[in-house]
Amino acid sequence: MDLSIDTPLKVLLVDDQNSHRMVLAAELEQMGHEVIEADNAEDGLRLFMVARPDVVLLDVEMPGKNGHWAAEAMRRAEPEGWTPILFLSGLVRDSDLAVGIDAGGDDYLFKPVSPVVLQAKLRAMQRLCALHRQLTLLTDQLKASNRDLQALSIRDPLTGLTNRRGMDIRLDEELRAARRDQLPLTLLLIDVDNFKLYNDKAGHLQGDVCLRRIGQLLSDTCRRPRDMAARFGGEEFVILLPGTSHSGAMFFAKGLRRTVHQLALPHPASDSQGCVTVSGGITTCVPDGNTTIESLLSRADAALYTAKSLGRDRFFCFETQTDTTTGQAEAANYDRSQGSSTEMF
Ligand code: GH3
Ligand code: MG
Ligand code: MG
Ligand code: MG
Repeated sequence: MDLSIDTPLKVLLVDDQNSHRMVLAAELEQMGHEVIEADNAEDGLRLFMVARPDVVLLDVEMPGKNGHWAAEAMRRAEPEGWTPILFLSGLVRDSDLAVGIDAGGDDYLFKPVSPVVLQAKLRAMQRLCALHRQLTLLTDQLKASNRDLQALSIRDPLTGLTNRRGMDIRLDEELRAARRDQLPLTLLLIDVDNFKLYNDKAGHLQGDVCLRRIGQLLSDTCRRPRDMAARFGGEEFVILLPGTSHSGAMFFAKGLRRTVHQLALPHPASDSQGCVTVSGGITTCVPDGNTTIESLLSRADAALYTAKSLGRDRFFCFETQTDTTTGQAEAANYDRSQGSSTEMF
C-alpha cells in the first residue's frame, strides 16, 4: 500500500456547467490527479459508489438534485468510510458554507476557484488520504493479529490440539446444537495409562514427545468435520463426536484402542506388554434442558475411573455398562450415527 502524501488522487468532479468542469478537470490533470466527471448529482452518486474516488469536488447548484442531496447520499453510502467532499459554489454567504458542511461537506470552495487555492486544498486532501491509508493498514494488521491471538489462545502449544478453553467453547456450541436438533452427542475423556511412571523412567522431555504422538493420533482419528480432539490437561484428552450414538461411540472407541495398540509406543515401565496404552470414559446422550458441560464431563470422568479400576487399556461406558475389551465382532462398515437397533453390546 502506497502511504506517500504525494500519491495522485482520484477526484470525482460533479458540476452541471460543462465549461467550468472542463477547466477544473484540466487543472486537476495538470497537477497529476486522475479525474472522473459527472454533470448531475445522481450520476455523481453512482460514480461515487462504483469508482471509489479519494476526493469529491461537488457543485452545489445543479438542475434536479443538488450537491447537498448528493453529499448526504454519499455519506449514507459509506457509513464506515469517509471520502472528503469539497463543495464548489457561487453562493458566498456564511450560511451557505454552514449548510454545506452540515450536509456532509468537509470544505467549501467559492467559484471561480483559483488554481492556487485548488492546489493547496488538494495538498491537504493528499495528506488526509495518506493518513487514512495508514490507518486502514494498521487496522487490518490489528485485525490479523487479533485473529492470530484468538487462534493461539485456544491452541495447546505442546500437542497443537485445541486446548481446554477452545474445547469449552466448541462443547457449548455442540451441546446447544444437539439439544436443538435432538441428536446424540458423544464425549470421550481419555487418559494415558501409568504416565507418571513413563516420565519417571524416560524423563519429562520424552514424556512430552509421547503426548505429542498421542495427540496426533487422536487428531487423525477425528475424521468427520465436526469431530474434535482436545487436550483437556496433563495427560488427559477429550474427543467430541457430534451426532454419534452409544453404539457408534463404542465402535469408535474400539477402533481407537486398536490404533493405539498399533502405534505401539514403547513404555519403559508399563504392565501392558511394554507399550503405551490409554483408558477412556464414554458418555453419550441426547441433551435435554438439564444437560450441561459439567454433567457430561463428570459422567465421562466417572466412566474413566471405572475403566482404570477394571484394569486400564479400555474404554468404559456407564450408560450401556460396557467396555471395549469384550472383543465382539464389529461390522466392517458400521455407521456410527445409527441407533440402538444395531447396538453391539
Ligand atoms: P493412571 O494410569 O492412573 O492415569 O496413572 P498416571 O501415572 O498416568 O496418572 P497420574 O495422575 O499419577 O500421573 C499423570 C502424569 O502425567 C504426572 C504428570 O507429571 C504427567 N504429565 C502431565 N502433563 C504433562 C506434560 O505436559 N508433559 C509430561 N511429560 N508429563 C505430563
Ligand atoms: Mg451548477
Ligand atoms: Mg490423569
Ligand atoms: Mg494417566
